[in-house]
Amino acid sequence: MMKQLLKNLVDITAQRENSRLAGAVITGLYELTKVKQIRVLDIFSLREEMFVQEKMYLNEGHLSTIAEHTEDDPKEPLSGYPAIVECIRQHKNEHYEIAADGWHVLWLPVWLHGKVNTCLEIRHPHAYDTGTLELIDGIFGIYCNYQSLLDYSERDALTGLFNRKTFDEQFSRHAFALAPHEAHSLDNNERRNGGETKAHWLAVVDIDHFKQVNDQFGHLYGDEVLILVANILRTSFRSHDRIFRFGGEEFVILLRSTTLADASKIFDRFRQHVQEYDFPQVGKVTVSLGFVGISQETPVVILGHADQALYHAKKNGRNRICYYDELVTSGVLSNEISTNDIVEFF
Ligand code: GH3
Ligand code: MG
Ligand code: MG
Repeated sequence: MMKQLLKNLVDITAQRENSRLAGAVITGLYELTKVKQIRVLDIFSLREEMFVQEKMYLNEGHLSTIAEHTEDDPKEPLSGYPAIVECIRQHKNEHYEIAADGWHVLWLPVWLHGKVNTCLEIRHPHAYDTGTLELIDGIFGIYCNYQSLLDYSERDALTGLFNRKTFDEQFSRHAFALAPHEAHSLDNNERRNGGETKAHWLAVVDIDHFKQVNDQFGHLYGDEVLILVANILRTSFRSHDRIFRFGGEEFVILLRSTTLADASKIFDRFRQHVQEYDFPQVGKVTVSLGFVGISQETPVVILGHADQALYHAKKNGRNRICYYDELVTSGVLSNEISTNDIVEFF
């Protein structure tokens, strides 16, 4: 038992990525307690509504994982899970109930920054004995602590957005996860049919004349602007999109599964949100943005293309968004020469 416990703790703490961590935790819970079923549920908001989506399911030791989910995957409204609703409302760490089928169910929400993004659901045909409950509590406590440590290492301290390191790790996976048919349609159909095909998009955002903000108002106000722009970013995109603070006053957005027309609209709406915002003391701040479809090119090339579009936006008056492919098609940017430049630059 002791040996098994140590093995599971080593497995859990060896993980550096959320879903692998969850997998190690529920595998450990099963091996230590032999509870029949464990589910990992993702909880997220979409257009002001809360949803639940199954991420992993362990049935009598057999693990099935749902890969990175999208908006189109099956999801259920949170209201269909009264136990989780009650946990969130009452800020509870667990909820125990006997379900209609007589099974004993333990709900364990993972709290992070005052929010629940994940909940474990443990189901067993019989009541849990004290030893089992103690083991579950202990492993779950370690899971929560470790999850919070992992989250801390993934984020930028000033804005709370994901950091550059996380981008490097996630983007190679994200680009890789692009299904071949999606990449194909992006390369061919996308341009032909005027953007009806869904694809993933990458944008680089840079605050305009940010040096002037620092020079005129001081670094503290500069930092405040960064925090406020980060907040506008968070409210301008969906929970399935990813936002990173890439460097000083530069941000990267990964936009999932949308048409070119919608991507343009969403990016420009964000640009407009910033333009309309009244920054305390500083007043008006604007951003420039360059974006590109995520193809099967390497991350360096994709990022380089978005950077070129951003550079073009800067050169042409700032406070605007530019789409790389459009610049290439219209002859403003030359595809081959600029790609070589970028490779050398990196
Ligand atoms: P452009 O419109 O061409 O982007 O001009 P810019 O002034 O924004 O560009 P530049 O790259 O010259 O300046 C970026 C400035 O951002 C320089 C640096 O001092 C400042 N900066 C970088 N990181 C931070 C930070 O964490 N806090 C604050 N306050 N300033 C930062
Ligand atoms: Mg910059
Ligand atoms: Mg700038």
